[in-house]
Amino acid sequence: MSYQRRKEFLVFGAPKIEQAEIDEVVATLKSGWLGTGPKTARFEGMFQEYIGTKHALAVSSCTAGLHIAMIAAGIGSGDEVITTPLTFAATANAILHAGAQPVFADVEPGTLNLDPAQVERRISPRTKAVIPVHLYGRPCAMSALLEIAERHKLMVLEDAAHAIEAQYHGRKIGAMGLAGCFSFYVTKNVVTGEGGMVVTDDPEMANRIKILSLHGLSADAWKRYSDFGYRHYEVVFPGFKSNMTDIQASLGLHQLARVEKNLQRREEIWARYEAALADLPMDLPPPPEPDTRHARHLYAPLLKLDRIGMTRDEFMHKLQAENIGSGVHFVSLHLQKYYRETFGYQPQDFPVACEASQRTVSLPLSARLSDEDADDVIRAVRHILGA
Ligand SMILES: *Cc1c(COP(=O)(O)O)cnc(C)c1O
Repeated sequence: MSYQRRKEFLVFGAPKIEQAEIDEVVATLKSGWLGTGPKTARFEGMFQEYIGTKHALAVSSCTAGLHIAMIAAGIGSGDEVITTPLTFAATANAILHAGAQPVFADVEPGTLNLDPAQVERRISPRTKAVIPVHLYGRPCAMSALLEIAERHKLMVLEDAAHAIEAQYHGRKIGAMGLAGCFSFYVTKNVVTGEGGMVVTDDPEMANRIKILSLHGLSADAWKRYSDFGYRHYEVVFPGFKSNMTDIQASLGLHQLARVEKNLQRREEIWARYEAALADLPMDLPPPPEPDTRHARHLYAPLLKLDRIGMTRDEFMHKLQAENIGSGVHFVSLHLQKYYRETFGYQPQDFPVACEASQRTVSLPLSARLSDEDADDVIRAVRHILGA
């Protein structure tokens, strides 16, 4: 087979938006109610039913959700929160926003998820909570993490930004701790432009999150201009501006309705990559652990750098030259300027996360991809690696 470079650039992480979303947004614009309102409430109800928790609170982003969930849980100054360094900056930034200290624990080789044994080593008298991040959509070792949390009286807040569809031993990811936070950012499995959701079974948490997300106004203040007639509110806390709007929810309603169908499509692309890349000098993502469901958010093999004679960044530049977009998830936070300088981390403080930071590359994985798109990715990768 002679190699042919792809003609149009394949955008990494492009979302699949259909006519139903477009029509719903237009209808919302014409309704005159653009802010938090009935569509946000409907989206919350739909999400709450999908995850199976008692409450779901729509917010402006997963970052905002993590931040206010920690404030609602009483986490603040003097507290420590343990999380993985191999995550997006938002996870640790939100801990700092809440006034607490992030404490990193290294990840397991293979799954690249938080290593329970490393978490246990980092617990101090100030530790208040653990934030597992279900990296790429793969559920963390929740049995071990929940057991450690219970023994040390720690709260568990899940960063489920990658893991809307994920399950662990028959339970939904995001619903396993005190609260779980989801992201609807443009590259995520459900997209509202910007947006997020916090789920919890705890009515007090739900009430506080609702209030904190809208200036600290007493509950249901968003109804103040509705057809119920004008309602007065009280400011019960100096809250935040982290509410979702009905424009965002308009997208979410239809995106969530197709969440399982889109997962199926990503599973097909995943299987296609797996079959076609197995003989190359890269470690492919391991299969999901028994009795778990992987949400297939990111397909991120680890390059065998010593075998391919180039760095990960050189590999990405070559992919770009073949008109294939790719991503890095992630460069470990302990290697990032702020965290490195503030906390004095050395690269080898978290050796597994450090190595993954240099070797990981995410190939396009969106329900929007056709078989031909996936085959273009495969051909380009094989071409670059000389196969
Ligand atoms: C995307 C992401 C977030 C932040 O989500 P936003 O909705 O963009 O705030 C948090 N954690 C992880 C692991 C992410 O990938």
